[in-house]
Order: sequence, then C-alpha cells, then structure tokens
Amino acid sequence: MADPSRATRILREVFGYDAFRGQQAGIVQHVAEGGDALVLMPTGGGKSLCYQVPALMRPGVGVVISPLIALMQDQVAALREAGVRAEYLNSSLDYREALAIERQARAGELDLLYMAPERLVTERGLALLDDLDIALFAIDEAHCVSQWGHDFRQEYLQLAVLAERYPQVPRIALTATADENTRREMLERLHLTHARVFAQSFDRPSIRYRIAPKDNPRRQLLQLIRDEHPGQAGIVYCLSRKSVEETAAMLVAHGIDALAYHAGFDADERRERQQRFTDEAGVVMVATIAFGMGIDKPDVRFVAHLDLPKSVEGYYQETGRAGRDGLPAEAWMVYGLADVVQQRRLIDLSEADETFKRAANAKLDAMLGLCETAGCRRQYLLAYFGESIGPCGNCDNCQNPPATYDGTEAAQKLLSCIWRCERASGYGFGAQHIIDVLRGQRTEKALQRGHDKLSTFGIGADLDEAQWRAVLRQLVTLRFINVDHDNYGVLKLTEDSRAV
Ligand code: ADP
Ligand code: ZN
Repeated sequence: MADPSRATRILREVFGYDAFRGQQAGIVQHVAEGGDALVLMPTGGGKSLCYQVPALMRPGVGVVISPLIALMQDQVAALREAGVRAEYLNSSLDYREALAIERQARAGELDLLYMAPERLVTERGLALLDDLDIALFAIDEAHCVSQWGHDFRQEYLQLAVLAERYPQVPRIALTATADENTRREMLERLHLTHARVFAQSFDRPSIRYRIAPKDNPRRQLLQLIRDEHPGQAGIVYCLSRKSVEETAAMLVAHGIDALAYHAGFDADERRERQQRFTDEAGVVMVATIAFGMGIDKPDVRFVAHLDLPKSVEGYYQETGRAGRDGLPAEAWMVYGLADVVQQRRLIDLSEADETFKRAANAKLDAMLGLCETAGCRRQYLLAYFGESIGPCGNCDNCQNPPATYDGTEAAQKLLSCIWRCERASGYGFGAQHIIDVLRGQRTEKALQRGHDKLSTFGIGADLDEAQWRAVLRQLVTLRFINVDHDNYGVLKLTEDSRAV
C-alpha cells in the first residue's frame, strides 16, 4: 500500500502546499497504488497534482499526454523550478533537442515526461515508451476524445493503445467536462473500464452568474467594466476576430487597458499578450475562444460573453477562468435573438452529418435554456453536470427574480400577428414590423399595408418592445418561429406553432 504520509511530504517539500484539496488525496492514493482513474474536476480544481504527486511516488517516469504546447511548457518550467526532473516532447523542439530528451528518458533520468498526443502515437513515440520504466500515464483534457465535443482531437482516439500495450501501467484521465455522454465516451474510448471515477462538485460558489438581453452590447460591456470592475483583470469573449478587434479598440478608446487576442496573431504576439495579461494587474483580454485552456491567472475578476457560446460545457469552461483565487468574481453575458439565429445557421451550414448536427442543436438548446430560464442559473448549470442543489442566492435570477407573466397568451398574440400580416400582404415580415403592429404603432409601413386594420393591431400594447423581443426570442428558441435569414429575417410559423 502506498504510504499517505509520503504523498503529503512530497506535496509539502516539492510543491510547497500544506494539504491536499477536495479529492486530491484520495486520487493520489488510488493512482499511487496502481489503480486507473477518471478525474472530473472543474477548471482550477487542482488536477495537475493528481498525477504529478503519484508520478513522484512510483518508480519510473510519469508520462503526461497534453494537447496544449503552451500549457506543457508552463508546467514543465514550474516543475523544474521545484526541482523535479521534467521535460517535454512536442513540435517546438528541433531534432537534436528531442533526441537529447529521449536519451535522458531512456537513462531513467526523468520524473515526468510531457508528450503531445500526435507524437506519442507515432512508431517512434511508442518505441520510446517500450524502452521506459513508466510510473503512470496521465491523459490530460481527456474530453478531447469525444467526437461531439468542442475540442475533439483525432489522435486522442489512438490513446486506447496504451491500455493494450502497457496493461500494468496505471492510467489517469482528467477533464473539466463532465456531462454524462462525454464521461461515457472517455471511459469507453480510452479503455478505462476498471477506472474509478472521481467526480468533484463543479460548483464555483464565488462566481456570480448574470445573463441579460443584448441591447447595445459594447455599451453594456463598457458599463459593466466601468461601474463594477474598474481596474480589474477580466476576459471578454467574442465569436469573431473582427468583433474581438473592434471591441478591444472601443475599450482602449475609453481608457481601459484592453488587449485583443485571436488565432490570427502569430505565436510570438500571442505569447506576449498572454504574458502581459498574466503578469500585469487589471488587463482586460478581449479574445476568441482561442484564448483559453492553460490560463492560470488566479485573480480574473470577470469573464464576459458578448456572443452566445455553442454549449454549456464551453460556457462553463470559459466562465471557470474567473475567480480561481476563490474571491468573488462574475460571469456576465448578453445575448439576443441574432445570437440564436446565427448559431442555428452555423450548424445548418456546416458540412457535418445529420447525427452531428442533431447533437450540436441539442447542445445549443441546452445553452439557450440557461439563457431563458427564470430560475436559478447555478441550479440549471449544475443540473446539466448531474448535480442537484437549491437556489444559490448568487445569480441574477436569485437576486432579482424576473417578473413572469402568462406567456401562452403573449405567444398566441405574436404567432397570430405573424400569420395575419403575412396573409394580408402575401409575404412575411421581420421582427420590428410585427412588434410595431402588436403594439399598435401607426408606422408608415403599417399604414401603407393596411395592417392597422388587422385584428391583431394593438392587441399587444400591454407589453413594451423589449418584452416582445423576449417573447419572440423564446418562441424562436422553442422552434415555434423560424427566422428566414436568407430573406431579410422574415418570421415564419413552424409546424409546432399551430398547437399554440
Ligand atoms: P486545473 O488543472 O484543475 O485547472 P491546476 O492543477 O492548474 O488546476 O491548479 C489550479 C491552481 O490551484 C494552481 O495554481 C495550483 O497550484 C493550485 N493548487 C492545486 N492544488 C492545491 C493544493 N492542494 N493547495 C494549494 N494550491 C493548490
Ligand atoms: Zn441562483
């Protein structure tokens, strides 16, 4: 049996920490004794120690498979700082450097060896492993094996070979993505049939969740930063590179220390920007999701989304970068009808097969459910990851419960107005016109087309424009209305809407 006091001693002497956190101690013990493990822990939970400590407890070298070169380099640098003999093998090395590291590994001079997956599964990679005395395999970001996930990597599928080739070596797979499907896929595809699953609560109590309708997103963002997070570090996620650059420029023009980051910058430029964000206080990073995994900055006070993420997993991973120091932090998002339409369109236009599209749509629907819920956001999020809790008291809906009204009646009015306008004119209309008619606005367009004579004219004067937009958004979300983006955003009833 592995000696637990040895684990604690390594933790203290090598890493400088007094105690294990959460389930770390149990995981370390299990793996040190040769067991396989699947570790589900939220970002910032402390996954690295779960394989680093047992690797140091067991004879031989711990082989860590990680898809991210930058992350690998940071970890190896930190380990070496702590006196651990760690190296990495990835595409950033030239032939001679790689050869030298392989020689060190063969001579048994390494405690930890980080390897890029595409490198490991080559003949040369496996030949190297054959020659080594291996303490354990750690498969980081194990959700990359999931074909439906947002980080799928082909080479991860080939990692199953480790189970066959080195059956006596314990394997530990780790991820911050934990929905039921991904969990099953990881166990199956990595051949972790006998692995013990360690699932830590995904709750991040220090993060406050807030999701608001999009009105003027850049102005809303500016207000958030000025009023609530002045001088604080934060990340702003946008969908496109163009929007990243424009948003960063807008913030800079308003005196905020903002930087843009996306895959269009070269590697040096990206590194330099990430470094400034990490080292300096109060930098706001405006980025695409290219800025993500491997950011280890504890005092990010807010993560803002100006565009709707594709899935709850993505959203949770991105917002999880806030408040890793455990102090209050905020996850803030604005979204609108255009986001729903745009994401649906991206799925429709993608080259993927029907199964994939169905899965992508289901993920998007779950994400939209989070946006539209009138209940506790945290409750919704954790339920998605299989945990149940009561209302949290630390999200917008808990703190300011949204006013609810009879949605069926409003829905009927809106659907009927779309139908009547179309029947009267012989063609369809967009959101603005329909809402004007509902609210009884005598616009030129309404008068010209005689829509002021329709029975639905003015029947919705009790709700304001923003409320009608919310009703519309929900009906589109629920697929009672389609937005025809190839035809000026005309609203169309769907089969389902007849029931309403
Ligand atoms: P993850 O990979 O799960 O996102 P990391 O392994 O990068 O998390 O750890 C997140 C942060 O928490 C790091 O700064 C790490 O040093 C710190 N940490 C992890 N475990 C402990 C511990 N037992 N005591 C104190 N700090 C810890
Ligand atoms: Zn709540």
